[in-house]
Amino acid sequence: MTARRAGTDAADPEAVRAGAAGEIRIESLTKTYGRITALDGLDLVVRPGELLTLVGPSGSGKSTVLRLVAGLDRPDRGRVLLDGADVARVPPHRRAVAMVFQDYALYPHLTVRGNLLFGPQVRRVPRAEADRQIRDAAERLGITDLLDRYPDQMSGGQRQRVALARALVRRPSVYLLDEPLASLDAQLRVTTRADLLAVHRTLGTTMVHVTHDQAEAMTLGDRVAVLDGGRVRQVGVPQQVYDHPVDLVVARFLGSPPMNLVPGGGVLGGSPDTTVGVRPEDLVRDPEGPVEVTVEAVESLGSEAILLTRCDDGTRLAVRTGPRPGVGTGDRLRLRPDPDRLHRFDTTTGRRR
Ligand code: ADP
Repeated sequence: MTARRAGTDAADPEAVRAGAAGEIRIESLTKTYGRITALDGLDLVVRPGELLTLVGPSGSGKSTVLRLVAGLDRPDRGRVLLDGADVARVPPHRRAVAMVFQDYALYPHLTVRGNLLFGPQVRRVPRAEADRQIRDAAERLGITDLLDRYPDQMSGGQRQRVALARALVRRPSVYLLDEPLASLDAQLRVTTRADLLAVHRTLGTTMVHVTHDQAEAMTLGDRVAVLDGGRVRQVGVPQQVYDHPVDLVVARFLGSPPMNLVPGGGVLGGSPDTTVGVRPEDLVRDPEGPVEVTVEAVESLGSEAILLTRCDDGTRLAVRTGPRPGVGTGDRLRLRPDPDRLHRFDTTTGRRR
């Protein structure tokens, strides 16, 4: 890919073309660190303009994917194509990629304006043009009032907005966001999440976003890719992946509390080699229900409650209910699994049946 410089976007037809595309094609990417295999022949295509969320257990390779796409590290095998061009020989600053980290990585001795100006100055963007870009980015993220502050004079949420604004100023064709909301408190996460979605909607630029947050995995992305062991297990629209996990790893990972999984089927009915799963919301309280349980604990979450229950054969089942379930520890209940929402997996291979 040819170098694309922020700041000359308006005048540079090549930059405009790059901005309109932003396809990432990752082919058989392998990366080892000593004896650790971080990526194990990973394949993934991120479509132009989409917001794709990468999720997976800690150590599954999410950050490594971002680092290799950004060019901060080199793969052992496989390749990364940005808009069809192999970027193996393109240094990070010449890739049309901007990365945003969880820890903001702002310069402490510079004001917000100074932080935002840094990139354009390095790229020798004319000052008037740089000022225009900064105004635009600051307005989009609602930080215009903060331009003269230093990083230590702002909250975590404000700093994260500045980090996002700095990425916006680069006008890349791809944004790589490594848990950008992880250090924010719960309320700020929700508002910053909405900001991020709005920025993505108005820019229409490809974004790849790493998170370990269940709600973000489900809400923040056109598609979600579930990684495990340095490979992509499943990629699809979040609800589709949630409703039809292709294997036990995905089934266990998406959803909180996770899907109830019963080897052999047991109280959920089944056959010896099959593991049967049911989500906590698909176990309905019903006096005529076939599954009898004892309530071991009630977790009230305000808007809902989770009943932690145990069957007579020892099987534990989590049940999602309304906010005031009216039961307590030790109560006996009957449950009816929604027959259309049972998941069957091969116990040995883990694959969906
Ligand atoms: P995730 O982002 O999903 O938590 P990472 O991509 O950070 O996973 O890491 C994948 C695997 O590679 C982990 O086992 C991690 O310990 C290892 N790893 C990542 N970076 C390095 C490094 N610089 N040196 C050694 N091991 C690393």
